[in-house]
Amino acid sequence: MQIPFHKPCITEDEINEVVDSLKKGWITMGKKTIEFESQFKDYIGCRNAVAVNSCTAALHLALRAIGLKEGEEVIVPAITFVATAEVVNYFKAKPILVDVEKETHLIDVSKIEEEITPKTKAIIPVHYSGQPADMDEILEIAEKYNLYVVEDAAHSLPAWYKGRKVGTIGDLIAFSFYATKTLATGEGGMVTTDNDEWAEMMKVLRLHGISKDAWKRYTKEGSWEYDVLDNGYKYNTTDINSALGLAQLKKLEWMWKEREKIANKYNEAFGECEELIPYKVKKDRVSSWHLYPLKLNLKALKIDRNQFIEKLKRRGIGTSVHFIPLYRFTYYKRRFNYSTKEFPNSEWIFERVLSLPIFPGMTKEEVNYVIENVIDIAKRNKR
Ligand SMILES: *Cc1c(COP(=O)(O)O)cnc(C)c1O
Repeated sequence: MQIPFHKPCITEDEINEVVDSLKKGWITMGKKTIEFESQFKDYIGCRNAVAVNSCTAALHLALRAIGLKEGEEVIVPAITFVATAEVVNYFKAKPILVDVEKETHLIDVSKIEEEITPKTKAIIPVHYSGQPADMDEILEIAEKYNLYVVEDAAHSLPAWYKGRKVGTIGDLIAFSFYATKTLATGEGGMVTTDNDEWAEMMKVLRLHGISKDAWKRYTKEGSWEYDVLDNGYKYNTTDINSALGLAQLKKLEWMWKEREKIANKYNEAFGECEELIPYKVKKDRVSSWHLYPLKLNLKALKIDRNQFIEKLKRRGIGTSVHFIPLYRFTYYKRRFNYSTKEFPNSEWIFERVLSLPIFPGMTKEEVNYVIENVIDIAKRNKR
């Protein structure tokens, strides 16, 4: 059997929406994008949703909205995708890495306060694998030190923290619609916020700083004339991507339930195997299960994580690692001179973690094949 790490859930619905865009002849940002923003905002239950061409762009615009400046600092978890810290560097500001929790891989809120200085401007929690970070504690710290909270919600659509949907909690929330994410449009992103002024500003900045929905200038109501209000970016999405988004949003909760079923099966099966450490979600939250991160109990095994991945690969099972900690990358080492000793939990996780296939459309046989082979490899390589 061959099971890829991920397969997007694309059916006739997505194809028909895209074909509709193509037939109408409007292929860049237009009506479908406005409709996608409107439906997304209603689904999340927030005041504003601004569509852009990636989550990285969404994070960048969010940091523009809060007015991040050169020399300031932003707190980010040490284990995340590089985009979370990269956007801070765009401002010549400094990403301050904080270690994560061993069990959940979420930013360790007990270690945030010691990193706060007069230069700290914001915290970017990452809802790793779809599990919301400790938002109450993060918001409390933010209030105490007058910081903004910009959430990296690339994994967490949909997810709930103490009954509140991710997208309604922090100041600005950035989602990703990258090909492997829980709502996939190939490339794409969205920022949600209840602050109307920020939403207006991001709408201007996403298209070269041009005033008022310049895409309208090609419609009947539009005119050729426009002004440039600020130095912006080419961050707009297209109606082709938004067509995919509209179709995917309709089945978002169905796709989430499918992943949740797989995660429950994994947790049940691996919980009984002492060589494996299943992924834990805290009681007061609901994960989107974008990823299923499995950890190896290395004390009980005579092979390491990389050998485990190799063995799964030979049996046709695709996996990945989320993530290589940021302080291990050449750029971050060169620029900030971090030591791995500062991040004992991240190091511990990175030695042990791998992500298993989890996507809607995975058959029972495929899920069972993954479970059987993971357990078989573990048992055969028992110490
Ligand atoms: C995928 C991802 C991003 C970036 O998303 P893009 O849409 O590809 O820009 C940011 N943060 C995390 C944690 C991610 O996994």
